[in-house]
Amino acid sequence: MKGFGMLSINKSGWIEKEKPVCGPLDAIVHPTVLAPCSSDTHVFHGGSGEKSNLILGHEAVGKVVEVGNMVNNFKIGDTVVIPCTTPNWLSQNVQGEYNAHDEGLMKSFKFLGSKDGTFAEYFHVNQADANLVLLPENVLPEAAVMTVDMMSTGFHGVENANVSFGDTVVVIGIGPVGLMAVAGSKLRGAGRIIAIGTRPNCVAVAKEYGATDIVSYKEGDIVEQVMSLTHGGADSVIIAGGNVGSFKQAIDMTKPGGYISNVNFFDVSDTLAMPAYSWGMGMANKTIRGGFCPGGALRITKMLNMVANNRVDTTKLITHRFSGFEKIEDAFEIMDKKPSDLIKPVVFID
Ligand code: NAP
Ligand code: ZN
Repeated sequence: MKGFGMLSINKSGWIEKEKPVCGPLDAIVHPTVLAPCSSDTHVFHGGSGEKSNLILGHEAVGKVVEVGNMVNNFKIGDTVVIPCTTPNWLSQNVQGEYNAHDEGLMKSFKFLGSKDGTFAEYFHVNQADANLVLLPENVLPEAAVMTVDMMSTGFHGVENANVSFGDTVVVIGIGPVGLMAVAGSKLRGAGRIIAIGTRPNCVAVAKEYGATDIVSYKEGDIVEQVMSLTHGGADSVIIAGGNVGSFKQAIDMTKPGGYISNVNFFDVSDTLAMPAYSWGMGMANKTIRGGFCPGGALRITKMLNMVANNRVDTTKLITHRFSGFEKIEDAFEIMDKKPSDLIKPVVFID
């Protein structure tokens, strides 16, 4: 079979591989809608270490073409939504609060992490009954593909930020992940939502999702801007973009007793600065959390339930649409180059 991915770090191309083998609990899926992600480009540029001859992609809706003999809930021909993280539900670590670290740090990220991704004619899904969801009848496939990483991650940022009724929330970074954090904060009852970013498309969607204020990091120090808007800081700050300095800024702009919630990928070589003063010389009761996209069937069923009932329109994230398997290459390239009018591209495949 054919797939698109990285031949080596910074070198992309089409790759020929054997069709993946289906284990007794597993499924093989043919993608019908795919979305490239910042995380694909991050891995492509070597952000997760030495990798080669790897098919990229981890956000997909598709058709089941094969199921293992122990799979109960799915059959050939079903249209399914595939979480971007597919934990091993037989591991002990998933029995705690977070399922992302099933077999170690972020090991639930099987696509790209321990096997080929979804930019292929066929891809493998471990433990189908626990990791696949049937596409609900009233949810568009392109709306569903935005739930598997963008919505689950953005909403996880909101959960970890403990957003409550009337809170003032800052979202640093309003790419697709941060935009979902804006939408999630509104759904959790935030009073004021300050969104930080500059791309006009993103700013417009942030306002539609509920941002009450927009701050540009290109027009002065964001801590000063947020402090002057809030007279004392925010209840919660969600980091969904930015750079190595964003961590310190987030702590600086959070009120004593508040929450700092990170879903941004820092670089392996980064060292994050902890400002003693704004951490109250160590006594500010600020809670710092960083989380990885929760996966599995239950999580994505809940995300889809919100989409199906019009609580959130995830299609607002989609700015570029491609048709045809071979267009994966163009969609990946646009994700990598990030033109200023891009939020998320999707590829439709027969
Ligand atoms: P993106 O589209 O690149 O968006 C980044 C955002 O950060 C943009 O709004 C950008 O503003 C803003 N930004 C850039 N420099 C900044 C600065 N100095 N200060 C403040 N804001 C700044 O990224 P994305 O696709 O939404 O992904 C966001 C992050 O989440 C990435 O690091 C990605 O790898 C990570 N991620 C994490 C998980 C997880 O499970 N934790 C899952 C998926 C993705 P402009 O408007 O000016 O561009
Ligand atoms: Zn992704």
